[in-house]
Amino acid sequence: MRKNNPDFTQATFLLSAAQLTQLPPDQGIEVAFVGRSNAGKSSVLNQLTQNKKLARVSKTPGRTQLINVFVLDEDRRLIDLPGYGYAKVPQAMKEAWQRTLGDFLVERDCLKGVVLVMDIRHPLTEFDQNLLKWAEESALPVHILLNKADKLSFGLAKNTLLKVIRHLKTYQTAISCQLYSTLKTIGRDELKDQLIGWYST
Ligand code: GDP
Repeated sequence: MRKNNPDFTQATFLLSAAQLTQLPPDQGIEVAFVGRSNAGKSSVLNQLTQNKKLARVSKTPGRTQLINVFVLDEDRRLIDLPGYGYAKVPQAMKEAWQRTLGDFLVERDCLKGVVLVMDIRHPLTEFDQNLLKWAEESALPVHILLNKADKLSFGLAKNTLLKVIRHLKTYQTAISCQLYSTLKTIGRDELKDQLIGWYST
């Protein structure tokens, strides 16, 4: 057990990798963030690190299909895995990206967990379900944020949470799920506890 919790505000950009071979050595602890475009992943990362510039790096043209690596301290890193967007991305590119993403999840030993950001109004898209399948294959824990919870009434948000949790029981890996809103600051402590847990293993 490590003594100090990671300080997310210390996150600094290290590199963007197009292939797994360009990543730093597979040592230490990494936690990755992933989500379909527009689910709010950048907003979550900005809020967590209190650094508006951070996730903008991943949105820079040319970097949107890359694995973006941020360093928290000597042996802990945060990985931003940009999700693909809507129909604008050609099918072949989508497939290539899905392969890289799948390989990363399956092969990266120092990856201790994945935060999957979903828009609560469109949970469990095909992209999300593929990701959960890969995580299951590699026994990788996943923590789901049902983001934009502010867009639904509390009752409807809770119902969606329960429905998603019921669906998750079909997977054979540790998957947790919570309500989240970057706008109304819902769920931030719960997310931090989850991250601290992974970064302390
Ligand atoms: P990304 O493509 O997943 O990185 O998504 P962004 O972080 O760029 O967010 C996409 C859009 O959703 C932006 O217009 C954000 O302002 C908005 N957004 C992000 N989080 C929330 C939230 O919790 N509530 C609401 N209502 N809007 C949000």
